Amino acid sequence: MQGLLFGNDAECLPVPAPSESSAKALAKLLESAKECCQCRLAETRLHVVFGEGAPCADLVVIGEAPGADEDASGRPFVGRSGQLLDKILSAAGFQREAVFICNILKCRPPGNRNPLADEIDCCIPLLHRQLQIVNPKIILVLGKVAANTLFANTLSLGSMRGKVTKWKAYDCFITYHPAALLRNPHWKHGCWEDMQRMTAHYKEVTGQNNAR
Ligand code: SF4
Repeated sequence: MQGLLFGNDAECLPVPAPSESSAKALAKLLESAKECCQCRLAETRLHVVFGEGAPCADLVVIGEAPGADEDASGRPFVGRSGQLLDKILSAAGFQREAVFICNILKCRPPGNRNPLADEIDCCIPLLHRQLQIVNPKIILVLGKVAANTLFANTLSLGSMRGKVTKWKAYDCFITYHPAALLRNPHWKHGCWEDMQRMTAHYKEVTGQNNAR
């Protein structure tokens, strides 16, 4: 099956038109985020990992928090997990530059522990502002912790995958975190099914079914 192991690149979906106002608003938000000391993670981080990508992306990808590679580089989803995410996106037709990638927390929790409730409360307004600026049509949520945090539930990943979850104005899809796929490669098949569903929905809501 094409893309099953994320080794095949699909035809690239069109890149959303750039927006100067969104780019400026994100740049301004980034400048203020760089100085943020609103929670204890400011004391241990090397970099604030704000997120990156197209300021007007129709797809935003959200993980839970930066890891060691991201903390060191200041960029989201680099290292082995990031490389796998790039392959997953590419197999589904998305260039990394055409989407916006970020995390719920912008600073690394020590030892990659799960985010704490007060850290989420401090940081989530920044994510809301990012989403307000980028204004995506679809959000792809990576992993159970990110999904439970975003949707304020305790559901299993299995019960959240494979369908659209409405959250605020956004259509959200949930799949495995790439780090989990590295530990459990047999989950890649399920991830690919999630990506196919998400991509079909993406084409529908962005009118790309009609354009082809
Ligand atoms: S995790 Fe968020 S709230 Fe905490 S210091 Fe970093 S940017 Fe600020």
